[in-house]
Amino acid sequence: MSFLELGLCEELLRAIEEQQYTAPTPIQSKVIPIILTGRDVMGGAQTGTGKTAAFSLPMLQLLSKQKAAASPGSRKQVRALILTPTRELAVQINESIEVYGKYLSLTSTVVYGGVKAAKQIARLQRGVDIVVATPGRLLDLYQQRCVDLSRVEIFILDEADRMLDMGFIHDVKKIMALVPARRQNLLFSATHSPEIKALCDRLLQSPVLIEVARRNTTATSVEQIIHPVDRERKRELLSYLVGSKNWKQVLVFTRTKHGADRLSKQLVLDGLKSTAIHGNKSQAARTKALDAFKAGEIRVLVATDVAARGIDIEQLPHVINFDLPNVPEDYVHRIGRTGRAGNGGQAISLVCIDEHKFLQDIEKLIQYSIPRQLIAGYEPDPKIKAEPVLLGRATSRGGQSRPSLAGRLSKRPPARRR
Ligand code: AMP
Repeated sequence: MSFLELGLCEELLRAIEEQQYTAPTPIQSKVIPIILTGRDVMGGAQTGTGKTAAFSLPMLQLLSKQKAAASPGSRKQVRALILTPTRELAVQINESIEVYGKYLSLTSTVVYGGVKAAKQIARLQRGVDIVVATPGRLLDLYQQRCVDLSRVEIFILDEADRMLDMGFIHDVKKIMALVPARRQNLLFSATHSPEIKALCDRLLQSPVLIEVARRNTTATSVEQIIHPVDRERKRELLSYLVGSKNWKQVLVFTRTKHGADRLSKQLVLDGLKSTAIHGNKSQAARTKALDAFKAGEIRVLVATDVAARGIDIEQLPHVINFDLPNVPEDYVHRIGRTGRAGNGGQAISLVCIDEHKFLQDIEKLIQYSIPRQLIAGYEPDPKIKAEPVLLGRATSRGGQSRPSLAGRLSKRPPARRR
């Protein structure tokens, strides 16, 4: 299938050609023609599948073909609203919209918290067709009467599962109540849960369900590997892997902000250019770190799940789970940073005995037994016992959910391969 066959207009085809996209990705082929008919869509697709273009291209086409409803004031009213959980993702979506829409005369802007609101307010007051926003700041600006949502024609909820995980559901519901009842709705989510189903029932009218990867599966272009290692030797192994394999651009995940800071400092001491991004860092610091990483000035970017949400670096070759996430869906999201849009990638997890329960949960979710690979010199010491895992403020018995299991695990030969 070609982009031409999807029914996109000439202005969009030109912009796509400039991006050198030769063919639509599976989600794009399936979703674009349906959105163009005006129907609601529930899209099961993770980041990296090309879903931003899958909703942005038909959105731009619909907005450019349908005339805006006459607005009473001179200001243009918002015609499409895209909600997304993080600032980084919001910025990236808006950048994509600007790229795809460069030959159309539509305008867009981005609204997110953590920075001063004045510029965002000024932009909104000049009038804009499309707003990409994180929920909290959008509500703030709405309450200050800086944005008019009464003429929204297309409402898009991106990464809906993540919105729920991050506790944005109330804000999202408030925003849903502010947009007009008659509108087109699109919801995208990488994972499925009863909460997502409930949200779809509330938001979508007779939606078309489109799924590109199997439920809760990981992108097949990503090679997944586990290196079993002792908890105290993970950092050493990480430095060894980056150095010996000469990796140039590595995204490393940790469970906690403190862990991210500590690890990046240790990596610097090991001679690797590294920095950390997490929720305690200012937006300016996060953007600076991301730009330096993209430019190749930083070799190892250490991130927490929340901060890494939405990072889009083309062909990111390596993603390392320094800690396994305690929420199994986060594993799917994390490794979605590599192997993007068909490019191969490698997702490596350094797993110590404390994390066996987390690993079991992940493998159950993705229905795949991730291959184990021991690294010579870093084999786990079978005498080391599982300890509870610190999760920021809370503590989880990641490797000790049942004492008898912990006992069994510690006796297991560490080199077990599946
Ligand atoms: P997304 O899933 O929206 O985060 O997109 C992932 C990456 O794929 C982005 O870097 C896009 O620029 C890229 N991309 C989107 N559509 C295509 C396509 N049809 N062909 C090649 N790359 C694409």
